[in-house]
Amino acid sequence: MTDPRFVIQHHLATADHYDVRFEIDGVLVSWAVPKGPSTDPRIRRLAKRTGDHALDYAGYEGVLGPRRGGGTVQVWDHGTFRNISEHDGRPVPAGEALAAGHLSVDVDGEKITGGYSLIRTRGENMWLLVKRRGRGADARRDPVATHPESVLTGRTLDEIAAQG
Ligand code: MN
Repeated sequence: MTDPRFVIQHHLATADHYDVRFEIDGVLVSWAVPKGPSTDPRIRRLAKRTGDHALDYAGYEGVLGPRRGGGTVQVWDHGTFRNISEHDGRPVPAGEALAAGHLSVDVDGEKITGGYSLIRTRGENMWLLVKRRGRGADARRDPVATHPESVLTGRTLDEIAAQG
């Protein structure tokens, strides 16, 4: 069995954000992260849980029509991940970790790697995205700022907006 996929889509709509999506139980479970992922474990990024998407949306890049919410979508990073969620030292399936409000993953992307945790803070929808220590942790990096191009096509958001 191959590892499940993750994708981070930079989405410039009414607000600029990064849609962080993980393949769990046959869908892309999703969060909108206004500032995108950090590689610094001291930084907590707000992550608003949004609706699940179909798996084939992971490869989408282009300009959305108004019926789909509008805005320009770029595949900012993608790859595979492993669920590393635990409770009392025992592994927890990703679906259960999600329901419990504490999901930990180890990602293999092109721009970000290593452990990340998503932690629910209040209500159903407000979570935090935090880099875990170890592999991929580096307070000096800021890939959101230094690597703005698409991992699919090399295009910037402006180029996608102009070309569709
Ligand atoms: Mn979005």
